[in-house]
This record gives sequence, C-alpha cells and structure tokens, in this order.
Amino acid sequence: MRWCSFFLLTVGFILFRFKSFQDTFIYCYVSPGFRRGYYQVYNIFGALKMKNTIIKLENVSKIYQMGDVQVPALRNINLEVQKGEFLAITGASGSGKSTIMNLVGCLDLPSKGNIFLDGSDIAKFRESRLAQTRGKKIGFVFQQFNLIPTLTALENVMLPLEFQDVDSFTAKKKAFDLLKLVGLEDRVNHLPSQLSGGQQQRVAISRALSVDPEIILADEPTGNLDSKTGAFIMNFLAKIHGSDSKTIIIVTHDLHLVKHAERVVHLKDGEIEKIDHNHKNRRRV
Ligand code: ADP
Ligand code: MG
Repeated sequence: MRWCSFFLLTVGFILFRFKSFQDTFIYCYVSPGFRRGYYQVYNIFGALKMKNTIIKLENVSKIYQMGDVQVPALRNINLEVQKGEFLAITGASGSGKSTIMNLVGCLDLPSKGNIFLDGSDIAKFRESRLAQTRGKKIGFVFQQFNLIPTLTALENVMLPLEFQDVDSFTAKKKAFDLLKLVGLEDRVNHLPSQLSGGQQQRVAISRALSVDPEIILADEPTGNLDSKTGAFIMNFLAKIHGSDSKTIIIVTHDLHLVKHAERVVHLKDGEIEKIDHNHKNRRRV
C-alpha cells in the first residue's frame, strides 16, 4: 500500500512538471478561486525568475485557419526581449512580422506556446485583462497611422488617456506637450486629412506615448513615408529610447533604419533565421 502511494505520488510529480498537464489538471479538478490564487503565485515566481526580461516567447506557433486551410504564420519561436531594449524585426513580406507584433501586443493569442509579459503568461488572461494590459503597457504605431479621421490631432492623442479615466484637463495638457515634443504644436486642431503622412505618423507616436507605456510596438512605421520623413521618425524613436527606459520593437524592411536597433531578428517563413547584435547601440538599463 505504501509503495503504491509512493508510486502514484512519483508519477503525479513527474506529470505535474509538464505545463500542459498542470494546466489541464488545475482546470478540471481545482475550484476557480484556488485556480486564480495558484496562477497569481505562479506569475509572481515567473516575474522573479525573469528579472530583466520584459517579453518572452516560448515555443510560440501561430496557425491561422482559413476555412479548411491552415496557414502557419509562426513556427516555434523562442525569443526574449530585455527591459529597455531596442529590437528590430525584419524579413520578407509574409514572414510573420506583424503576427509576432499582434501576439506581443496582446491583440491575438498564440496557437501553441507561451508569451510572458513581465513574467505573466498572457494566454491565461481574460479579455478584460488583455485589454487593460494593452491600454497601459503598450503603445502601438502602425504603418497606416490608424488615426481617427473625425478627431483632431489633439483629440487623437487624448483618447488613450480618456480610456484610462484621466480627467480631460490633464489629458489635454499631456497631449499638447507630446505634440509639442514632435514639433506639431501649431497643428493640434488639424484633422488627420489636413496633415501630411509624416505629420500623421508624429501624431500617432504622440498617441502611443500618451499613457507612458513600457513597450512601444511599431509595425513598419516608416513604410508609407518618404525616406527623409522616415529617417526623422526613426531618429525620434531612437531619441525616446536613449532618454527614456522604454522597450521598443520595430518591424521594418528597410535595412538602413535598423542601424538604430541593438538586435535585429531576421524572420523567414515564420521562423527565426538569425539574430544580429549591434553592440555599439547597446545601453545599460
Ligand atoms: P508580415 O507582417 O511579415 O508581412 P504577417 O505576419 O502579416 O507577415 O503574415 C504571416 C502569414 O500569415 C502570411 O502568410 C499571411 O498571409 C498569414 N496571415 C496573416 N494574418 C492572417 C489572418 N488574419 N488570417 C489568415 N492568414 C493570415
Ligand atoms: Mg506586416
């Protein structure tokens, strides 16, 4: 009898070391309250273990289902991003760059694997917590600017602050200061259609910075701009990185622009082909 319990305990212990078994066991046999507590403790240990790592992708795969067809966009990606790092992701069209950004930005969930943000596994988050994390921790800059056409530059920058319940006086002041920082203090009442592409992207960067996020994700931010305006945007992002402790991940095709990054991840057909290190850009955090 004693040997039997010892055997069962050993088998249980070995199986419990596998994360997928652990999750299934906890999901099926443990009450929701205890489950929440377990994952809170699990995440605290995760955060302690990760120390300076802000983003960790562990065996991440993403498969899109298009009717009967499965489209593999990412295959078994393993990547760690340190707090305050400036990382560039590059690769041909369709190599999975935007898919990685959407996953890191909590806009989508992986088909397989785990994504840790500050030690917490985002696959365990409910939609409300995903949205909260997105709103507070992450600032997005897109190729198409994605400004709201009916709002002025100032109102576009104020919007994320209003979502965070910042009062409108403070939001207005902060939005004005950010637009001033990108040299648009004389365009605050313009609608996006009354601004050039470069100016719209500067508004979008101000909007991304408004909630003071830890992470800035920029998906081909210079893709729709001429090379001079693109260089201005990249220099500005590099300046933010130099003066602030923000973690910046930028997707770009343009190899001239990746010179600002500390590491360059090359993607090919959904896999990491290689990672280049640019030691001269490395900064201590
Ligand atoms: P990149 O940004 O490097 O151009 P993406 O990450 O957008 O590449 O796409 C990677 C692959 O996944 C492509 O083959 C693309 O067609 C496919 N894909 C991306 N988004 C979707 C989607 N929502 N549904 C189906 N397939 C998608
Ligand atoms: Mg893309």
